[in-house]
Amino acid sequence: MNDATFNDAMSEIMEIRERYARERSVFIEGDRMVEILKALGASAEDLEKIKLVSDDLPKDPTLPFRESKNGRFCFDFDNSRAYRLEFQPFALSAEEDFVRHDSGQTRIFEEIGNDLQLNSALQALLVFKSLIFRGLSTDRRPKLDYDSAEWICTLFNLRTISTPDLQGEPALEGVHSDGVDHTMTTFLGSRNMTADSAVTFLHAMEEKNGTRWNGTDPGLALGRCQHRHFLDTMIVVDHERKHSLSPVSAVDKRLPATRDMLIFFTRKPVMEGHISHPYDSLGAHAGLPMAVDLPLPLEEKILVAAGAPAAGGVER
Ligand code: FE
Repeated sequence: MNDATFNDAMSEIMEIRERYARERSVFIEGDRMVEILKALGASAEDLEKIKLVSDDLPKDPTLPFRESKNGRFCFDFDNSRAYRLEFQPFALSAEEDFVRHDSGQTRIFEEIGNDLQLNSALQALLVFKSLIFRGLSTDRRPKLDYDSAEWICTLFNLRTISTPDLQGEPALEGVHSDGVDHTMTTFLGSRNMTADSAVTFLHAMEEKNGTRWNGTDPGLALGRCQHRHFLDTMIVVDHERKHSLSPVSAVDKRLPATRDMLIFFTRKPVMEGHISHPYDSLGAHAGLPMAVDLPLPLEEKILVAAGAPAAGGVER
């Protein structure tokens, strides 16, 4: 990768970062993401491979129309790296604006393996996300430790499946938040999915949790987007915007329709009294190690060069 390409991509990322800071959500077209990820180290081969990584996912622990895996990563800005965290069960509660039949339940997902975590496109997505949210102030969630240097990123690899018997719902819970600070969603692919499937709607925090996507208050609507092409990506400040999604429908109703996504939840470590407190280890994964260097955002580089402390030191 030559420096000019990297610097061009970094300038583009800084534009996206500014838009995210201003608007509190941003959608980036897949074609643009391909170029950005290449500049951040994604190989052409891995960009092809990641399209197929959802093909043999195991069944989801609680949702019959979904296949899933997850894995935890730490953004350690003090040491300029992200690394794989050890396995922990997963929980989301109604207190975090997540109201579903399995709210508050401890869920055990199968673990993301090396096929995904060692893929250079995935690693570039982690780097990209870090460059977008690092140093940004957002409304704080209760019981998260904003003095901590680390951020915890839980990555989900999901396939939502609609069959003639069962409609696949990317967000069965209706209007909700993900219980984190920054959510990033990246589209990997779909099969037999209608063009009007899986639209994401953003809502003001006043919208009532659990409302179906088509029953929401238009006065509280803050935008919509749709992931249709490879690497279409949305990022949202999760404690400032709620979201909902329409279901996955099949073009040929006799056959299954699928939608494959990567979801990156990122938040500060939790404090005592939070539902995830027993499951929030910062220990590295012994069996599935992975680490990737995190470059500084361009504007931070300029500040650091001028003698200011890097963000993360000041605004965690
Ligand atoms: Fe969500």
